Amino acid sequence: MINRPYFKFCCYTAFVITAFAHLSFGQNKPAAAGTILQGLKKLNVVGSVLYVAAHPDDENTQLLTYLANERLLRTGYLSMTRGDGGQNLIGPEQGEYIGVIRTQELLAARRIDGPDQFFSRANDFGFSKSTDEAVRMWGQEQALADVVWMIRKYRPDVIITRFPPDSRAGHGHHSASGYLAEEAFKIANDPTKYPEQLKWVKPWQPKRIFWNVFIPGAFMSNKKPDEPGVISVETGLYNPLLGKSYGEIAAESRSQHKSQGFGVPANRGVKIDYLALKGGEPAPNDPFDGVDLSWKRVAGSEPVQQLINQAIANFKPEKPVASVPVLVQTYKALSRLDTANIYVKTKRLEIETLIQQCIGLWFETNPGNYAAAPGEAIRVTSSVVNRTDYPVKLIGIQMPAIQKDTVMNLVLKPNDVAAFTTTVSIPANQPISQPYWLEKPVVKGLFQVSNQALIGYPENPPAFTTLYTFDIDGQTFTFSRPWSYKSTDPVDGEIYRPFIIQPAVMANLAERVYVFADNTPKTVDVILKSGRANVSGTLKLEVPAGWRIEPAQLPFELKEKAQEVRVSFRVFPSVAYSEGKLRAVVSTESPEKTGYASSLRMVAYKHIPTQTLFPAAEAKLVKLDVKVKSKNIGYIAGAGDEVPAALQQIGCLVTPLGPRELNADLARFDAIVVGVRAYNTEEWLRYYQPKLMDYVKNGGTMIVQYVTPGGSFIQNGLKVNQIGPYPFTVGRDRVTEEEAKMTFLKPQHPLLNTPNKITDQDFNGWVQERGIYFAQEWDKAYEPLFSAHDTNEAAKDGSLIYCKYGKGHFMYTGLVFFRELPAGVPGAYRLFANMISVGK
Ligand SMILES: [Zn+2]
Repeated sequence: MINRPYFKFCCYTAFVITAFAHLSFGQNKPAAAGTILQGLKKLNVVGSVLYVAAHPDDENTQLLTYLANERLLRTGYLSMTRGDGGQNLIGPEQGEYIGVIRTQELLAARRIDGPDQFFSRANDFGFSKSTDEAVRMWGQEQALADVVWMIRKYRPDVIITRFPPDSRAGHGHHSASGYLAEEAFKIANDPTKYPEQLKWVKPWQPKRIFWNVFIPGAFMSNKKPDEPGVISVETGLYNPLLGKSYGEIAAESRSQHKSQGFGVPANRGVKIDYLALKGGEPAPNDPFDGVDLSWKRVAGSEPVQQLINQAIANFKPEKPVASVPVLVQTYKALSRLDTANIYVKTKRLEIETLIQQCIGLWFETNPGNYAAAPGEAIRVTSSVVNRTDYPVKLIGIQMPAIQKDTVMNLVLKPNDVAAFTTTVSIPANQPISQPYWLEKPVVKGLFQVSNQALIGYPENPPAFTTLYTFDIDGQTFTFSRPWSYKSTDPVDGEIYRPFIIQPAVMANLAERVYVFADNTPKTVDVILKSGRANVSGTLKLEVPAGWRIEPAQLPFELKEKAQEVRVSFRVFPSVAYSEGKLRAVVSTESPEKTGYASSLRMVAYKHIPTQTLFPAAEAKLVKLDVKVKSKNIGYIAGAGDEVPAALQQIGCLVTPLGPRELNADLARFDAIVVGVRAYNTEEWLRYYQPKLMDYVKNGGTMIVQYVTPGGSFIQNGLKVNQIGPYPFTVGRDRVTEEEAKMTFLKPQHPLLNTPNKITDQDFNGWVQERGIYFAQEWDKAYEPLFSAHDTNEAAKDGSLIYCKYGKGHFMYTGLVFFRELPAGVPGAYRLFANMISVGK
């Protein structure tokens, strides 16, 4: 169905794409004189480089900073994935929400170090051990298509990969990114490959491709690698115009990877990077040997070249505005060249920004709220100010999404803010904001994106923008700004966030999984929130056959925008063991509409613009055959831990244990469970370790979920010398195939038999992986319960080890209960119930 706003959206998309604008949280970009001079010098560099790796944080930030700011090249980073499969060190988000955070972290990094940011459709589905597995999951054809697409679209002279295409890369995604870049390099210029792309882009042959040699264990060393065709680049230089070295800028940008705990110190002094030729023409000295990086590569550009030289030579740092006439002339001269040429397009955009910066011209459009619902009328204010005395006329402003066009012909007085407030109506059929790659469910390892033109972009083109048309020196310029909401926080000051379109009413279910261990009904609380004023209607919950809901439906009436009301239903489970979906269905009056409801999910952190998402309002229902003998559980929380809530669902009483609670008597707990990585992060645990061991000795049951072994520069080591009563070590063994066969090593062991009889069936439906950070070597007091392995690997027995100690029981497990329990996987509940019940 093509309704009109969607059609408009497409047109706008086409506009953005041909303009190759750097899509980001588009604010004004005021610049000091040094930065402006840097920008003028960049006008003279006509060349591009594309860096390719697998994840947010893989990129060599310092090399990118150097390429963008010292070599002044058009520089892009293509990250195959958005990092969805990683762990989150700063909050509870998992999966696609971590992908949303990491997308924004990369954009925040790029706002600091300068390059453009791109992504393929590949999903970070978790750790992968081989290139083969990675490309099989992503889809070889589609993943390769996306790299070819980015090469054809960005037209880099040189491609640089972070990883080699083989097992030296460590992670299958890493080697796959190197492999795909090398393959794409070979075919991007072949019009018979992916011909469907040629509707938008032309074939392109980069001059060469390098591997930015990564020496494991010597990441930051300046040691020359033993590889053929290696050249070196010194990236530790100091830039006097920016007042920083590239190592300092790189540290700032890299420290944006906060969800991965990736704060790094500034690197000062000499830093050598090595590039090994992987394809194309040899380069004896410099990565760009034989590439003309001047205007000579654009026909008829001699006048442009002359004008840029003049602008640089005559630049006055105390008066950048004096450069405006020559910049306007350069812009006009560019307009006479082939405007389809990528450098003509790019440099026109750069000049537009430079002109704004030289004049100190500032303009933006701020709606009165960060969100509006379709059909809602909202107030928006557009403000313009010229902070110099350079003559500028505001010809008019347009708001294409609402077809508003205002002619002004206003001569801007120096430093006088002109503000225009108007009430506009959001079109009734305006689509709800949703990241384009999350509109459809991910299939295997690939996000489903139907609009080819969007592929590669870090985020959606803004649906609402204002076009400001100015007359500057007799030349008309039209500059675009996305609408953004602006507020003032008493602590953090002025804060911007993207303007988005939200549903008229949103329904947030209290839990994403409801687990029933018996036939007792559960209360499902739903918080209804209005997206605009005066919404009324009814809410019902849809459940699978055999399940029942009371009441059948509930009326609601929300008078104010953003008003919340809590309503409750009772869910009666089916008698049979079953799994299914509970979905909220909302019917609204005027406009009359019935459909599955969306929930509201905010991803809010200080280092990125707040992201608002509207996933389906649904939860998983599980009627489970589980018996639990232990009810009273003490829980030492790990990172972003949802296991306690899962245990409560099967009737356990869970007490959070911190230093204060650990001082009290522990004997009252049937079991004590330690959350993931708590032994890596909680310094105070070392002081309570003897007490915890005494608790076990006296008859308690203790379960430790995975810890990381330490030694890697991003992970903490362990806070205690020994986690259990007898020694064992934790290694990097993992089983990433979630269907891997689990062999029972001790079929008669109580952990596999009471109170729940564990069978192969209990390992059906696990998500993402079996386990990580298995025990590697253990004292003979421990018994391993399972053996498992990924395809073509040796058996690994350390996923769950158990020992008796005194009168009690101790277990260490790398099985990913922290993923499986919140996902409502029945077998994981049954096995975990046995583990906590083993002392009963
Ligand atoms: Zn990586």
